[in-house]
Amino acid sequence: MRIFDPHIHMTSRTTDDYERMAAAGVRALVEPAFWLGQPRTSVGSFTDYFDALVGWEPYRASLFGIRHHATIALNPKEANDPRCREVLGVLPRYLEKDGVVAVGEVGYDSMTPEEDEVFAAQLALAIEHDLPALVHTPHRDKARGTARTLDVVRESGLEPGRVAVDHLNEVTVGAVAESGCWMGFSIYPETKMTAERMVHILREYGLERMLVNSAADWGRSDPLLTVRTGEAMLAAGFTDDDVDRVLWRNPVEFYGQSKRLDLSDVDAADSFAGNSIRRGGS
Ligand SMILES: [Zn+2]
Repeated sequence: MRIFDPHIHMTSRTTDDYERMAAAGVRALVEPAFWLGQPRTSVGSFTDYFDALVGWEPYRASLFGIRHHATIALNPKEANDPRCREVLGVLPRYLEKDGVVAVGEVGYDSMTPEEDEVFAAQLALAIEHDLPALVHTPHRDKARGTARTLDVVRESGLEPGRVAVDHLNEVTVGAVAESGCWMGFSIYPETKMTAERMVHILREYGLERMLVNSAADWGRSDPLLTVRTGEAMLAAGFTDDDVDRVLWRNPVEFYGQSKRLDLSDVDAADSFAGNSIRRGGS
């Protein structure tokens, strides 16, 4: 099983996680820019973080033969802090970088007017830089948040096929399926979405435009839940090819729209990971 995790925050994970992911078949991932827990008070904290997402984390991932890409944005939560607004001005510089494959995470946290403004401005940046967009849906008031998200996407003029709407569940998937946007699901150990529920959704809605990720953020999370979802699919009668489509070819197709996905020598990852782990231990 080869896995491309389309949404995972490696910044909050340990080297052991990279090692376990490589051993389980994770060959590539996308790390979206997000909230770092501690509120940031100036634009410099953001640029240092963005530099880590295009520099340090790809290096850390490469030690385990994992190809790392990033999405860059001002996250919805910090869109509400006027001190962070300046970040919008530095984004164009990052959206031109090689390892950046989308604008994201953008979207809503509490659905404030500030979030409206920052969300729309960043969808415009996606059009300007010819990049897809990764859109976070709020964890509270999810149905209303998703409906409003789809309205803003429609108004932006960004083609639905270039937008992934993430953190969906049984309640919100239908509207996103109809919109033509990609459907993202974050699998968590005990809340929000499980591998078994994911399999039911795939049965009902099919495999097209489906993205499954482990999110692995600051809460309790498990970077191997993509693998567990693949196993649950097989147990439920899906084929190896179905699993490869959802866990590899779909994310490649979505982020491939950036024309910046670099998956060269990913196939050689097995031997590479072994060598690098030994090197990393010295
Ligand atoms: Zn996230």
